[in-house]
Amino acid sequence: MTIFAFSLALVLLVLLILERRKLRASETALIQLKQETSEREKENDEARNREIQHLLDALPHPFFSIDAEGVIVRSNRHAREIFGDREILDRHIRQIFLDASLIAPLTEVLDDPAPYRQKLRLPPTSVFSSDYADKDSFWEMDLRPISLQSEIVEIQLIMRDVTPSVHADQVRQDFVANASHELRTPLSIISGYLENLTEEGGLADREIAGKMLETMSRHVTRINRIVEDMLVISRLESDDAAPLNLAPFNIADCVRDIIERLDLMIAKQEAAIQVDVPDLEVTGDHFYWTQILFNLVENALKQNPSTPLKIKIKARRDEEENLIVRVTDNGIGIPATDLPFIFKRFYRVEKHHSQTQVKGTGLGLSIVMRAVEAHGGTISATSTPGIKTSFIIKVPPFQEGACSD
Ligand code: ADP
Repeated sequence: MTIFAFSLALVLLVLLILERRKLRASETALIQLKQETSEREKENDEARNREIQHLLDALPHPFFSIDAEGVIVRSNRHAREIFGDREILDRHIRQIFLDASLIAPLTEVLDDPAPYRQKLRLPPTSVFSSDYADKDSFWEMDLRPISLQSEIVEIQLIMRDVTPSVHADQVRQDFVANASHELRTPLSIISGYLENLTEEGGLADREIAGKMLETMSRHVTRINRIVEDMLVISRLESDDAAPLNLAPFNIADCVRDIIERLDLMIAKQEAAIQVDVPDLEVTGDHFYWTQILFNLVENALKQNPSTPLKIKIKARRDEEENLIVRVTDNGIGIPATDLPFIFKRFYRVEKHHSQTQVKGTGLGLSIVMRAVEAHGGTISATSTPGIKTSFIIKVPPFQEGACSD
């Protein structure tokens, strides 16, 4: 009996030990499963975060996510690029956006969550400055609060650099204002003379009437030239089709052609023209190259009606096959203070033009610059008044398939 009881107790003990082990094994398995699940969840979270970060980095604008306390909790590549080495994550907006015009709307949206969009003008010292180093830049600030039952969770901020479009609008406005101004002067002269001529007896003095008609005709020519130049500029600046009609041509022929067209002026001014242009084949738009050379040589003649003038036209290819064209004269020149502006539309050096002169539109050099740029080239000017004024064009060799705009 005792042996039986002992054996039973032993069996029970063994069973108990086995059960315990099983229990411990399943407990360990459970812990392991829990660990694996949390690791998998962590990995999933990390993968999701990486995915979100990739998406944010693909945004073309700086992006920031700000929590309810005003701390930056997420940013994208563009935002980090703007701040360079400065750490922006986990920092308060006041430590990062030092500009009051940025802080004010952010604080307002943090206090009272509502979408907000505003165009800001920021000084060149702001971290958000454009490539226009010394000029103010323009940014569109887009704020979107993400809130749950009126409680802010996060504010998302996107900063869009709209400086180029603001500048383009300004250029367009200036162009319209300048064009209207330039057209108004000759038009008012013509309408004044017309009034005189159509008055009773206005044609009685044939000599005076003849002079009026002559002046009117000069001003009509000027209006025509302004309108033609404006059309050329707008064609060069149009976004529609490719503005250039590219084909190979001989640059020496082009120079001969423009000299022939300016022959009368050259003879009248007894100007000496020296041409050093070999028979180079150039691929470009023949129409615009004629315009470029014509405007440069005509300018030299036009600005120096009473100087014994020497004009040199030179063309060559440099070691890298760039086409270099240089037009030089020894005339009145351009004062250093005017030199940076001469390629601007409608810019004319005041001192060169008296009230009675009607030559020139102030568009000639901007057409030249646009046309050179459309060929992928650059133009620069240097001047020592009375001694040497040079316009230097550099255009890279044409590459098949290269597209110019
Ligand atoms: P415009 O139609 O008045 O000639 P441009 O745009 O061609 O206008 O030139 C702008 C200004 O630059 C001219 O009004 C003139 O004052 C100056 N300029 C251009 N070329 C010369 C030059 N070769 N010599 C002196 N001044 C020049």
